Amino acid sequence: MANTYNPYDNMLQVLELAAQKLGLPQNEYEFIKYPERELKVAIQVVMDNGDVKFFEGYRVQHSSVRGPCKGGIRYHEEVDTDEVKALAAWMTFKCAVVNLPYGGAKGAVKVDPSLLSHGELERLTRRFTTAILPIIGPEKDIPAPDVNTNAEVMAWIMDTYSMLKGYAVPGVVTGKSIEIGGSLGRAKATGRGVSIVTGELLKYLNMPEKGARIVVQGMGNVGGVTATLLYEQGHTIIGVSDISGGYYNPEGLDIPAIHDYMSANNRSLEGYTATGVERISNQELLTRDCDVLIPCAMENQITGPIADSVRAKLIVEGANGPTTVEADEILNKKGVIILPDILSNAGGVVVSYFEWVQNIQELTWEEDQINETLKKIMIRSFGQVADIVKEHNVSFRIAAYMLAIDKLAKAKKIRGIFP
Ligand code: NAD
Repeated sequence: MANTYNPYDNMLQVLELAAQKLGLPQNEYEFIKYPERELKVAIQVVMDNGDVKFFEGYRVQHSSVRGPCKGGIRYHEEVDTDEVKALAAWMTFKCAVVNLPYGGAKGAVKVDPSLLSHGELERLTRRFTTAILPIIGPEKDIPAPDVNTNAEVMAWIMDTYSMLKGYAVPGVVTGKSIEIGGSLGRAKATGRGVSIVTGELLKYLNMPEKGARIVVQGMGNVGGVTATLLYEQGHTIIGVSDISGGYYNPEGLDIPAIHDYMSANNRSLEGYTATGVERISNQELLTRDCDVLIPCAMENQITGPIADSVRAKLIVEGANGPTTVEADEILNKKGVIILPDILSNAGGVVVSYFEWVQNIQELTWEEDQINETLKKIMIRSFGQVADIVKEHNVSFRIAAYMLAIDKLAKAKKIRGIFP
């Protein structure tokens, strides 16, 4: 990244604050500061024109204290080790907050996938899978989709892993297509979870459960589903954005029409127009007056200078790490309530867990059962975090970290140190 922001330092600072609030001695949470394993690989790809190119890939396993490592794989040209380490640690905390029997991991390839042909992308994915193969597997570390990866990429990973093992291993990844062992409800799970906790927060604050004015940054998997579900629940989505910029209408946007436009326009908002819709920058979008701001794009979006100008009452973090520590402090002082990523966007990993359970048990669940169980878990986790907020008079972020760190420290104590 071009600036000095380091997401891993960001994570360490929050960890420290939460551990202090818990009154944990240093030696009981020190282990959380160090990822268990970091793998960096060179991925050699024969391009369509016959040239050979190298790409850097990463897999970081932050913790397996509470179970196998779990976390997505992203393809992005600006990714680096510290970003992947931070994302892996957030997965550890997230799985602990929603009480899944998982640790945390994350993977990435430094690449702009839009510059690759379909064939090049497949060869890159299969070669990357081979490179990380010794450390992944249904009992060890289970990848999933993240930014710029999808069900097709997961299918290539599953197929490569299975071919090399000699038998089908659907449980090696989650976020797969239904036809090869994916779970009903997985594609929409993260956005569904974000919409559930947004509803819980409005209730908790005695705000109306309909009609909130909402801004969603990012209209990909997470943002697109979140905007749709909140729109269907009777809220007014006044702003959305993607990499092409922001689209704003104080009277409310027509979210189904926007999805239709994106479907016909290669999933991009570029060029979208409608009566009353103003085209603004992403930065402006984050600072428009609204009840709830839901960042669903990338990390490091709400920085100090932006936080100064934020006019939202509530922020629900759909993306991982969208708010810097500096911004968090400013927003807390301004009285803006922030639901942290490790709680708000945990719906994806919850249904990934359901997918993995179905794979290893070789059975399938109905979609209603999946959505209902997801709802129960998100509401229960929100309630547990909210109880810590009240009891310790801390922010939702610190409370969620306290819940996670407490579980991790207890698990570590019970397991002890090998040898
Ligand atoms: P995605 O690739 O489907 O969508 C990302 C969206 O953000 C796109 O609309 C893109 O145009 C937009 N975007 C990218 N950079 C932007 C910028 N600078 N300003 C505005 N918009 C920008 O990705 P996704 O799967 O929706 O993931 C989004 C975030 O949510 C990431 O932080 C990811 O780690 C996190 N997350 C995803 C899942 C999941 O299940 N997909 C689960 C938990 C967390």
